[in-house]
Amino acid sequence: KWLYERTKDSIVFIHIVPKADQLEAIENLMKSAGHVEESRRAAFINGNGHCGTGFVVEQGPDHLKILMSAHIIDHVFSSTNPVSSHVCNRVFTTRIICDHYESSFRRPGQNTHPQHVYAEVPRTAVMDLDEICLRNHPPVTFSSVHPAPFDECAMISWPPLRHRTAVTGSVSHPSRSLLDLAQHNPVGYRMNLLEAKIASEDGSSGAPLVNGSGKVIAMLHGGFGGPFSYFVRLTDIIYFLAHHGVVIRRFFHFN
Ligand SMILES: [Zn+2]
Repeated sequence: KWLYERTKDSIVFIHIVPKADQLEAIENLMKSAGHVEESRRAAFINGNGHCGTGFVVEQGPDHLKILMSAHIIDHVFSSTNPVSSHVCNRVFTTRIICDHYESSFRRPGQNTHPQHVYAEVPRTAVMDLDEICLRNHPPVTFSSVHPAPFDECAMISWPPLRHRTAVTGSVSHPSRSLLDLAQHNPVGYRMNLLEAKIASEDGSSGAPLVNGSGKVIAMLHGGFGGPFSYFVRLTDIIYFLAHHGVVIRRFFHFN
């Protein structure tokens, strides 16, 4: 429970909406990505956008850097046609809700957000926050130890309307090949995934998986509804963040 208290301020709700004057650009991006059938494209353009969970990896005086799953926008990219965060910022509006904001006016039984439409699920993207909540959003700390089978783990996520959803489980395999998990891989994801016996659902995508010390060991990618969920591995997250110049907090054991 201390782990929950410590992590909740670092977790945010993400809502990505197409900009009204960029609908044609988004349609063209979907055409280039090439894996959304023509008949389904209108739903992505005219819908209410997509939601996911994210967590803070860097906090500055005037910005936050938030890591999220790219599942939320995977209708517009593929591994052969990657989309830069610059392009994403041009065509989508990104709305971030932090735990402080949600807690400040949430009452039991009250709906605080409109109904959303969700997409499937991940790669990773760092985005900046437009408006600033001046309270503390401490960056998460990453583990330096790779998780092993049977290690206990926990996940806190934020599916739409269900703030602070906390679940526990255990690691069941540290590195599954994507080919072993899915026959269809239209986006062309190439990474291996950590498998954990933990419940998840669409909208929790991007949630951090933490170990017993509260250190991040992976990020939710998919597997919603079954007994197992699949996570982007620590090495891939660290590599991605380093590549984007994010100075991360890491926890090292000195014995
Ligand atoms: Zn806040």
